[in-house]
Amino acid sequence: MSQADSPARRDGVGRPGPAPEAAFAAKGADGLGVSAPAVATAAHRTRAAKPPPHLADLAPEERDAWAESLGLPRMRARQAARHYFSRLERSASYMTDLPAAGRDQLVATLLPELLTEVARQTTDRGRTVKTLYRLCDSSAVETVLMAYPGRVTLCVSSQAGCGMACPFCATGKLGLKRNLTAAEMLEQVRLAARAAGAGALGEPARLSNVVFMGMGEPLANYRALERTLRGIAGGQAEGFGISARNVTVSTCGLIPGIDRLAGEGLPVRLALSLHAPDDETRDRLVPVNRRYGVAATLAAAHRYHLATGRRVSIEYALIRDINDQAWRASQLAERLCQYGTRWVHVNPIPLNPVEGSVWAASRPEAQDAFVRRLAQAGLTVTLRDTRGRDIDGACGQLAAKEVAK
Ligand code: SF4
Repeated sequence: MSQADSPARRDGVGRPGPAPEAAFAAKGADGLGVSAPAVATAAHRTRAAKPPPHLADLAPEERDAWAESLGLPRMRARQAARHYFSRLERSASYMTDLPAAGRDQLVATLLPELLTEVARQTTDRGRTVKTLYRLCDSSAVETVLMAYPGRVTLCVSSQAGCGMACPFCATGKLGLKRNLTAAEMLEQVRLAARAAGAGALGEPARLSNVVFMGMGEPLANYRALERTLRGIAGGQAEGFGISARNVTVSTCGLIPGIDRLAGEGLPVRLALSLHAPDDETRDRLVPVNRRYGVAATLAAAHRYHLATGRRVSIEYALIRDINDQAWRASQLAERLCQYGTRWVHVNPIPLNPVEGSVWAASRPEAQDAFVRRLAQAGLTVTLRDTRGRDIDGACGQLAAKEVAK
């Protein structure tokens, strides 16, 4: 784009005095007249525990007012959003429609850096890439990018650590450090979409699916989750344009969150981490069950199905001699079939054992018997693969190692 037709030029022409953004550039991003490196240092010091505000934290209708509050023309927010969501870009050097003077500072303010990649591991013959990021408060989160026939799926984290304390889970052992912001979750998606497009999985590919199955309980971070879902599914510079139907929210069973999500008008898939059909075992494996119980949790999952028309995924980590007996599969089938067979899809998955844990993965013959029993009851069952097992594949394992350093 030439200088003559750039929006920068149009903004400035015919206006008395400097354009608001010129004043913004002269004053510094914080409006205090501090030079850019000093701003970054001061911001780092004062905001060590809190991520900086980011355009992607806001709903599209809030962004113009935010730009204005920073002394910028309203259209700057829309331009930055277009680069961020439509072009997956946050490098100022490619945003040539923004005025050259103060461009770096403007981009650093509207789209500040939130994640720093600290480790990347590839496995499954290049079809799985696990990335560890550090956040501004030095929390660690991870994503897993996976290539399947016909789709590319990203597993994202919604919290640093997790407060749900499931005893077999690496993330549960970390405890909850904090909720991620919407922008921190959306940035995981943007970086993965860029990596996939650049051939990180062997050849350039489009990110098509997102699952909230990384670190954290997404429904315990509801407001940010809702903004993130709209940021993933929105089109036209309002989001990344990934169909909500290709997005899965996985929960250990926070019923108020399930009901709220059912009313959002977003056809995302719900995955319920059930792991046991009876209260006694589930109380032990998923401590939040002591509050809600299996019957009420399944009832909420079924309400979700009725409200959205989407099949609910029942996630079931097969743990040797704990929850993997065939008679338990029959018990599970009975509980699910009380609502019929067409509202759920059961995904047993052999446990990815955490180093030093007493919990072990089921034996293959137990897995087969468990799956067979569910299928005999008329349920749709898929034994899930354990992608990334040889690279600390269980959720939170890579981050747990980083935290322990
Ligand atoms: S299994 Fe999920 S809900 Fe439970 S502690 Fe781990 S991350 Fe949290």
